[in-house]
Amino acid sequence: MESKKITIAIDGFSSTGKSTIAKELAKKLGYVYVDTGAMYRAVTYFAMINDYVSTESLNEEGLVKELANIKLKFVFNPEAGFSEMYLNGENIEKQIRGLEVSQLVSKVAAITDVRKVLVSQQQEMGKDKGVVMDGRDIGTVVFPDAELKLFMTASPDKRAKRRYKELLDKGENVKYEDVLKNVQTRDHIDTTRSDSPLKQAKDAIEFDNSDMGLKEQFERVYNITQRTIGEA
Ligand code: C5P
Repeated sequence: MESKKITIAIDGFSSTGKSTIAKELAKKLGYVYVDTGAMYRAVTYFAMINDYVSTESLNEEGLVKELANIKLKFVFNPEAGFSEMYLNGENIEKQIRGLEVSQLVSKVAAITDVRKVLVSQQQEMGKDKGVVMDGRDIGTVVFPDAELKLFMTASPDKRAKRRYKELLDKGENVKYEDVLKNVQTRDHIDTTRSDSPLKQAKDAIEFDNSDMGLKEQFERVYNITQRTIGEA
């Protein structure tokens, strides 16, 4: 008998390894994986190249007027083994992962009209269940009825170290202090914004992975998932 499909919401602070776990879980379950952070990053990239946002300024009204012209799509890349983000037909996966977009994204993600548009696209993508979605507000706003909610945390220092290594591996020329500062600034903006601040849903299971390897983490998450699917 085919098991019932559920909705899995994974929220948490930046660089807690949410997407690694979410991707792996979706693959093992045969579910769709949606990286909602990539969607906020893509809108930020659009805003950045069209001068709606910079470190000094934000033209919220101008950007909101353009929202209908921002077409986002995930396209599976079989070579990479995951879906890549396309903006108006162009692959922008590499551009959205750099420190420049990371430094601006929380500002753009705090705009209510941006959130409205992206949340509704995310709800559409997950309407048939069988989805693993990661972000900041999935268990609280996008899918408050998700059968399984995880909330990932780790110390800022551990997260910054992971992120720093990732960026160096990608060949970016960054300083550790800048990465740590970015992680702390994003935590602050994400948890204090008025619209959909990052917070743990009441029924979410907290996962502090400061001192946990990827394999152990995945095994634990997978066991919880199997149990939840069995009970659904
Ligand atoms: O997950 P990732 O670090 O790629 O997300 C980038 C940023 O996008 C976050 O720091 C946050 O400001 C925003 N975001 C959000 N809501 C989500 C996903 C991401 O506000 N569901």
